[in-house]
Amino acid sequence: MQQTWTYRFACLPLLTLVSSTAFAWGQEGHSIVAEIAQRRLSAEAQQGVAAALGAGVSLASVSSWADGQRVVHPETTNWHFVDIPLQAGAYDEQRDCADNPGHGDCVVRELQRLRTELRCQPTLEGRRDALRYAVHFVGDLHQPLHTVGEKMGGNQQAVHGSIRGLTCKRNCELGNETANLHVLWDTALIRRTVWDWGSYVSRLEDGLLRSPDVQRAAATSSPAEWANQTHVVAQSVWNDKIFPADGLLDDHYYDAVLPLLDRQLALAGLRLAQFLNSAYGAAACPAPAPAG
Ligand SMILES: [Zn+2]
Repeated sequence: MQQTWTYRFACLPLLTLVSSTAFAWGQEGHSIVAEIAQRRLSAEAQQGVAAALGAGVSLASVSSWADGQRVVHPETTNWHFVDIPLQAGAYDEQRDCADNPGHGDCVVRELQRLRTELRCQPTLEGRRDALRYAVHFVGDLHQPLHTVGEKMGGNQQAVHGSIRGLTCKRNCELGNETANLHVLWDTALIRRTVWDWGSYVSRLEDGLLRSPDVQRAAATSSPAEWANQTHVVAQSVWNDKIFPADGLLDDHYYDAVLPLLDRQLALAGLRLAQFLNSAYGAAACPAPAPAG
């Protein structure tokens, strides 16, 4: 979730200092989202995915590829998040998604483009890249801190203290790799809940994904609406009622936010499936823009 769910370009220098797993809704979060979607693909979407990635290649295996692209394609940097002011009531395209030349605009607009590009990029390579970006960015848009502009989406909000969660028995201090709120959400909360990402998928399949409420909540197809809903979650996990100003956390925070973490991962998986099923099931591609 920082880097993924993601990180932001200002944190790129850290890449040389911290293991790649520290950056990546870490690889666990993105894999959870991708696997939930994979199990719900329509026949058409399964064909589209196989044509783009090759037979038998899973969505989970490509779900963190986009994070590596930021280094070689900085023009994709801003596609991983949308900077909505924390106290704002809703996403505002002009305010929150302006194009930043050389860095891109935001995840909402990029997902709107990808919906068509998945099927309509003229080359196989283009369609494959569109799929790898889509799998990643639907996940990113459900990491709460990816919808907040303040303090670089929480990358500059220090956290410390100790969280045991469901997995940690001793030495549960939030350490170097979990020193800020964004990374806490990208990786640490997930790792304090399960030992491996496949177990998180099972946790959700056996629990929240059976809930009609989550099925209903997932049934909106607009990335702008996803941004708004995720932003409401961000407001509920980063405010002075639940998050102390000094960033000193314990299991009270974990217990309060775990249902929201579960819900965001479940919604992202369901919506990714919906996004791919809709995209690959669509009819004709738009006519290419006239040259010149
Ligand atoms: Zn990302």
